[in-house]
Amino acid sequence: MDDDGMVAWAAELDCQDVATLLRTSAPLGDPVKMRYPASTWWRYDRMSRFPAGFLVTGDAMCSFNPIYGQGMTVAALEATILGRLLKDGSEDVAAQFFTESAAVIDVPWTTVAANDLRFPDAVGDRSALDPERGAYLDRLCAAAVTDPVLTTAFLRVTQLMDTPAALFKPEIAARVPA
Ligand SMILES: Cc1cc2nc3c(=O)[nH]c(=O)nc-3n(C[C@H](O)[C@H](O)[C@H](O)COP(=O)(O)OP(=O)(O)OC[C@H]3O[C@@H](n4cnc5c(N)ncnc54)[C@H](O)[C@@H]3O)c2cc1C
Repeated sequence: MDDDGMVAWAAELDCQDVATLLRTSAPLGDPVKMRYPASTWWRYDRMSRFPAGFLVTGDAMCSFNPIYGQGMTVAALEATILGRLLKDGSEDVAAQFFTESAAVIDVPWTTVAANDLRFPDAVGDRSALDPERGAYLDRLCAAAVTDPVLTTAFLRVTQLMDTPAALFKPEIAARVPA
């Protein structure tokens, strides 16, 4: 896609902010296509043995599709877990670290993987996908463009401050168009 094609595409979006920005700004260089083959979670928490004195953390354990902006938050939460385990002098740090990290990773992983599976080309198990839930979240995101309460609620979930259940609370659902 060239610059004109990008502006034309952005002009089709409900929110015109991106199109306006593209029309009124000068590019710093040529467009570079972002290539991201797949979100990956290596299940070290399921290993029965792990070499003493080693750890895996951050993207090396789980890397998310970057468009959701969760990798650094998860890496920081993992660092917090590791810091506590080291401070406590826990035995078998690696096993505990992997178990506790898996609990942290689970929510964003489930959210991200479920959302990516809505793209027809994405490969994965779709049995747990709920089209009604997906349609509700689409309407929520569209309404969030002009509703700061919905915007805040959505960002709190994507930044891992609240769980996805927060988006289904009655006071939030009442603001989402039917
Ligand atoms: C395009 C893009 C946008 C993103 N946007 C966001 C965002 O908005 N918000 C967010 O939270 N996250 C975002 N992320 C994800 C975030 O960047 C990663 O989750 C985070 O950087 C992971 O930290 P890390 O320390 O595990 O790995 P990295 O930051 O990748 O650090 C690994 C380091 O190891 C070095 N290294 C690799 N191999 C070797 C070797 N053999 N020897 C020595 N050093 C080595 C690398 O050079 C690198 O410096 C984005 C990622 C991408 C690709």
